[in-house]
Amino acid sequence: MDYFYCPPEKITGDSVLIDGDEFSHLVRVMRKKEGDAIRVVDGEGCAYEVTLGEMKKKQATGTITAAYRNHREPALRLTLAVGVLKNPSRFDFLVEKVTELGVHEIIPIKTERTIPSHAKTERWQKLALAAMKQCGRAYLPRVRELTSLDDLLENCSKYDLRLVAHEQTESATSLQSHLAILHKTVLVLVGPEGGFSEHEIEMCLAKGCAAFSLGERRLRTETAAIAVAAQIGSIVLK
Ligand code: SAH
Repeated sequence: MDYFYCPPEKITGDSVLIDGDEFSHLVRVMRKKEGDAIRVVDGEGCAYEVTLGEMKKKQATGTITAAYRNHREPALRLTLAVGVLKNPSRFDFLVEKVTELGVHEIIPIKTERTIPSHAKTERWQKLALAAMKQCGRAYLPRVRELTSLDDLLENCSKYDLRLVAHEQTESATSLQSHLAILHKTVLVLVGPEGGFSEHEIEMCLAKGCAAFSLGERRLRTETAAIAVAAQIGSIVLK
């Protein structure tokens, strides 16, 4: 079943409007025609079974025949705040993988040891959109602008649970040990290639973050982020 993205503003009642890049993909790549069945996702967590109707030159309409709320979303909303990486393709890979694994929000953070001074937010948001469609999610994870660790910590109290992945934590303090109680929103911080400084770890702890270990090996940033998303993204409501 092919997935097409249609934001809520293009869904009225039981009718959807597909235009722009999605229309090109629908007609030129997938060669869909009137009467075909497709699945539409709105990026806010809803998926729709749609039967295609009138196909015009630059847009198509469809009729919703079934709707699924909170389609394939994990039980917890994970916000991953990750040190922006020197190698942009590694951050590209991270964004695609954690989107497949169910992340809710990605915040590239600037820390004492990050090198880039800007985030490729628009590029990463497009990668998240493609990964959302590929994996059949209906929620589009938001990729934020580059945010300083200080600013993030100033606003971290809005998360039910706040964790920082730290390789110098006693390995018995696993991520799972913090997930025994089901929280709704979880913020997890992951450092850049050079890690967090001791001062930054102290700041995280002072702001109510708990440190956890991902085992005794030193993981690359993207590996740590993917490991976190895999563990949290696989928690589903019973
Ligand atoms: N400071 C390390 C490298 C940092 S690894 C060094 O000495 O080279 C990048 C980030 O991945 C870390 O900041 C941490 O958030 C996470 N990470 C890597 N391995 C980890 C582990 N075993 N447990 C918890 N977090 C880990």
